[in-house]
Formats: sequence, structure tokens, C-alpha cells
Amino acid sequence: MIPANFEYHRPSEISAAIGIIQQHGDEARVVAGGHSLIPMMKLRMAEMGHLVDLQDIEELKGIEFSDSSVVMGAMTTQHELIDNADLASRLPILREAALQIADPQVRYMGTVGGNVANGDPGNDMPGLMQCLNATFEVVGPDGRRSIPARDFYEAAYFTAREDEEILTKISIPVPATGTGYAYEKQKRKIGDYATAASAVMIGNGAASIAMTNLSDTPIWSEAAGTALAAGDVDGAVAAALDAIDPQEDMRGPVEFKKHVAGVILRRAIARAQSRVG
Ligand code: FAD
Repeated sequence: MIPANFEYHRPSEISAAIGIIQQHGDEARVVAGGHSLIPMMKLRMAEMGHLVDLQDIEELKGIEFSDSSVVMGAMTTQHELIDNADLASRLPILREAALQIADPQVRYMGTVGGNVANGDPGNDMPGLMQCLNATFEVVGPDGRRSIPARDFYEAAYFTAREDEEILTKISIPVPATGTGYAYEKQKRKIGDYATAASAVMIGNGAASIAMTNLSDTPIWSEAAGTALAAGDVDGAVAAALDAIDPQEDMRGPVEFKKHVAGVILRRAIARAQSRVG
């Protein structure tokens, strides 16, 4: 199927993009890499009269480094997450996770901003951003504001971002040297979304655990992280499994998903622990 007709806009300033969204309201949607939105439009699950392409907005591009943080423009592609050596040295878990998304073709186009803004529980970046305690910056008609990734997801495809706001940047605190990390994902075949995935960071007396595609939002469990930081792996797994709420679908029944979640989380914890320096 091809999408229904739409008008294509390609502004070079954020203010112009927001103006177009304000003018057309529910009829307008921004498009970044198009690899979630365009398939939905082809399936006629989304019908937009106006698409506002973000590709020409320079402010949304690039990756900046400081001693304490990494700040990525929303239009950073998943391929750039893999390809950028400075990023891989500071936050290797981003590269490890991005390599498990779809295939190179999707990763050349798909953006980190689109991946986190979409609110799709199957996307890999939202849980990872919660694990890393990232902050999202959005800008809209009322100005700029920052939203912690851990407060961003409200339900499937519903987030704390207002319809007229554009996600501009993602800031991630750089973990202390020697922090162990792992992103582990079980999928039915190459290119599939996760049946279960888990992001784990551990080191320097702290730990963080997030789970993907096991609820209608990503799940970051404070209790699981606290248990893992205290060396209680069984307690961490139990707390994480207690926090998820998987639903039966084509990836399997609830009990199977809970089982896979436990296996994947234990693998991620073991690999993260083995990398603590
Ligand atoms: P788009 O499709 O352009 O946009 C997605 C949504 O986010 C739209 O509603 C759009 O309006 C909104 N949006 C985009 N950017 C912004 C912004 N800056 N501010 C506000 N709203 C914005 N993803 C995974 O994580 N894991 C997978 O395993 C995976 N497998 C895939 C397999 C296939 C075959 C395909 C086609 C896609 C797969 N994806 C997967 C999704 C892919 O990673 C998408 O590219 C990504 O989720 C969305 O990024 P995008 O730039 O393409 O966003």
C-alpha cells in the first residue's frame, strides 16, 4: 500500500516547523527518519495531511561531548551511534544496543530522536535512555523544557511531550570510568523488535536496570538497581520481573515472555559485571 496524499514541508528552522504544526494541528506530524511513521502511513494506521520533515534543521544534528555528559541532537541516526568512536568510548552501551536495531538500511535513516519520541514500547532506545538516566529537551510554542527519560513514557504511544513540541536533544550523563554495561535482546529473527530486552549499568556502588517491550512503556526499576548494587542478583531479577506487565501477542504468551525476560536480564547482568573495571 502507499500512504494517502499529504503535503510535504521542509523547514530549516525549528520555529518554522512549530509554526506549521500550530497551523495544521492534528493534521500535521513531524517526520525524522520515517522508518516508524511511513510504515504506519502505508498501513493507513496513521493518516497525516501535512508532514514536516526535520532533515534540514541544523540545530537537531550533531553530538557534543563534555567531561560529564554527551548531548545528541534528535536527528542523530542509529548508524551514527555505531560509527562515532568518541561516543563508543564514553557510552559503549549505545553502540551495543544500536547494533541490535533492525538492519543497516533502517539504521542509516532511523534517528535516536524518532526512536525515543515515538513511544513505541518495542523500540530499544527508550529503556536504554531510562537506564542511563538521560534527559530529553523539547521545544514548543511555550519555549523549551527538559523531561527526564524516566518520566517521559505514559502509555503506548503517549508521552509527556505535547503534540506541538519537537524533541531537540538528548543529554546523557557519562558513567564513571570502569562502569560495567550490557544491552541484551532476544528477538525472533534478525530485524525483529525485542521479545524481551534489558539494559544494565553497574559500578562504583550503583546499578541501573531497564527492560524493553515487556509493558506498554519501558520499565526502569529502582528496586532492581538497588538490589543489584548490593550484590543481590536474584533480588534484582525478582524486582525487575515484578515491575513488568507483558501481554500475550505474536511474540508469545505471558509466561513465556516473563521467562525470557528473566533469562535476558541474568545474561545482561553477568556481562555487565564482567566488564566492571
Ligand atoms: P519517524 O518514523 O520519522 O517518526 C516516528 C514518530 O516520532 C513520529 O510520530 C514522528 O512524528 C515522531 N518524531 C520523530 N522525530 C521527532 C522529534 N524530533 N520530535 C518529536 N517527534 C518526533 N526500532 C527499534 O528500536 N528496534 C528494532 O528492532 C526496530 N526494528 C525495526 C525494523 C524495521 C523493519 C523497521 C522499518 C523499523 C524498525 N525499528 C526498530 C524502528 C526504527 O528504529 C525507527 O527508525 C525509529 O523507531 C523511529 O525513528 P525515525 O527517525 O525513523 O522516526
